[in-house]
Amino acid sequence: MLVSTWRGGSEFTLDTVPDPSPGPGQVVIKVHSSGICGTDIHKTQGLFPGTPPEVLGHEFVGPIVELGEGVDSTMLDKVVGCTLNASCGECEGCKTWSAMHCEREPRLAGGFAEYVLVDQRQAHVLPDGLDPETASMTEPAACVVSCLNMLGEIEHGFDALVVGGGLLGLFTVGMLKLRGAGRIILSEPNPKRLAMGAQFGADVLNDPTKDDLGELVNDLTGGYGVKIGAEAVGVPKLVANVSKMIRPRGNLVLVGVSPQGSALPVDLYDLHYKEITVSGAFGAGDAFGEALATLPRLDLNGVVSGRFPLEDIEAAFAASAGGEGVKYMIAPR
Ligand SMILES: [Zn+2]
Ligand SMILES: [Zn+2]
Repeated sequence: MLVSTWRGGSEFTLDTVPDPSPGPGQVVIKVHSSGICGTDIHKTQGLFPGTPPEVLGHEFVGPIVELGEGVDSTMLDKVVGCTLNASCGECEGCKTWSAMHCEREPRLAGGFAEYVLVDQRQAHVLPDGLDPETASMTEPAACVVSCLNMLGEIEHGFDALVVGGGLLGLFTVGMLKLRGAGRIILSEPNPKRLAMGAQFGADVLNDPTKDDLGELVNDLTGGYGVKIGAEAVGVPKLVANVSKMIRPRGNLVLVGVSPQGSALPVDLYDLHYKEITVSGAFGAGDAFGEALATLPRLDLNGVVSGRFPLEDIEAAFAASAGGEGVKYMIAPR
């Protein structure tokens, strides 16, 4: 089969490797679509830890084409989305934190390939009516759901601000709306992404290059700020800026993944004085199933900006890093 191997920097090679063969409890998936994640891009830019050579891609969907020993035979041909690792459910990491912290189950091969071998515990059958390409965005949706689950119950009608209208930002808007947000402000300089915010449920759209976001938030909230302020880009300065627009006892939510080693440039006195809770979630946590069930409730029309075959992965990464569209897919065949 063909795989695309990341060789460091922006270099990939198309390689022929042996077809995967499932061991006990494993299944082989024929990749239908595999989304390019911000963390994949950041790896090629040296902003996120990664060690080449590596087959990237962790947002894939496709039919199960081969079953290992002990796997229920009705799983054959089922179209599934996959979590990042299998999670044993028994180790300290799984029991105390989330599946993402499993200490026993390593991540298996990546999704920029014709076939992927996964543990059957990673494979989630798609709900009726959800198309495979949309379902390949379950992992990023789950990252947002996991982030919002950390906030617990929130009183309905709360004001929210989301900075960044990439896929994570749009999902944050959509999921906050489903959780009873009142007014949601989305701030994003790219006009196409910003317009899409309305489709996900944003009530107020802000282009920060044209209109001052701080003034807008002040005007809308009587000077108090929003209850939930989410940063969905991964830029520490933006996180700091969002923290200044949150009302007392509000929440600063880190949806974006800031580069390793970055500090938060805020006045800690302000966080203390306003009693702001800062939280973020690592990856999809335990929220994959919940995200998969929630996806059909969002309108994802037009979110996929481009589809590339495996051999054009460098062009796909360049398009994705350019920030023009929202989501780019690798579709091997
Ligand atoms: Zn991802
Ligand atoms: Zn575990």
